[in-house]
Amino acid sequence: MNRPRHVIAHRGASGYLPEHTLASKSLAHGMGADFIEQDVVLSRDHVPLVLHDIYLDTVTDVRSQFPERARADGRYYALDFSWAEIQQLHVHERVHVGTDEAVYPGRFPPTTLTFRIPSLSQEIELIQGLNRSTGRNVGLYPEIKAPAWHRQQAVDISRIVIDVLQQYGYQSADDNIFVQCFDAQETQRLRYEFKSRLKLVQLIGNNSWKEAPTDFTHLRTPSGIAEVAKYAQAVGPHLSHVISGIDERGGPRVTPFVSLAHDQGMQVTAYTVRADDLPVYVTSLNQLMEFLIRDADVDGVFSDFPDRSRHCLQALRGQG
Ligand code: CA
Repeated sequence: MNRPRHVIAHRGASGYLPEHTLASKSLAHGMGADFIEQDVVLSRDHVPLVLHDIYLDTVTDVRSQFPERARADGRYYALDFSWAEIQQLHVHERVHVGTDEAVYPGRFPPTTLTFRIPSLSQEIELIQGLNRSTGRNVGLYPEIKAPAWHRQQAVDISRIVIDVLQQYGYQSADDNIFVQCFDAQETQRLRYEFKSRLKLVQLIGNNSWKEAPTDFTHLRTPSGIAEVAKYAQAVGPHLSHVISGIDERGGPRVTPFVSLAHDQGMQVTAYTVRADDLPVYVTSLNQLMEFLIRDADVDGVFSDFPDRSRHCLQALRGQG
């Protein structure tokens, strides 16, 4: 527990307020998060938006405000709406498309309060402003979403995101930011084609999710991890890639992934710690944090509950 471990507020303090709203980001900053995450997609007029999905219908009232604007698949794409239109949408807790039932029923209730989708610029200004007024230095953790899909739609999201980050002063390896992407080709493109010097995170998924045209099974092997280390400073695996379950004594079964990444000089930040959606092998968020930090030795966690994850880190540090 000697080296620093980080809490990345996953979509803000999303366990408490609707994900990716400026309210949830302010709360995360106040709760002591080390980094605050931004998932980024584009509007029709190519404004980078902080939104998890390429769709608007999982977290906004787009269907009632713009009923005619779905594509043939019935979904409402952020890329089909102008920034002016997107600013009219009301953000709510994530729901299942079709049933409109809350994905996490214990979280922030339906309300008449107005929450909006922020642009990436607005969110950076919020975090930089809070850094100044609090004297803290909370970092950014932007993720470029679905770059291959955006390219199919004739737009280069990475170029636009990198330009906005540069406008706000993020351009060197020393800047307090990590840029993440699932698509390994795109992460390499940031490094080699754009010659970005920002710290990069290669996210690791499962091939079955079809998150990116990347062979994640290969990226989890020793040779795959060594390839990633050539262009990325960190890897972001799913919890199941670092802990596969528990052994007969109730301790975690730790996979070789974290030590392989550490051997290659990379940090490991695992996703996602959720008090209301724990892996079956633990009974509390505290136990999951202990397994991840003390046993699996990860460098950071993406958490929907940044205050509770931060508190666990402090308690573990106290134990030496
Ligand atoms: Ca993300």
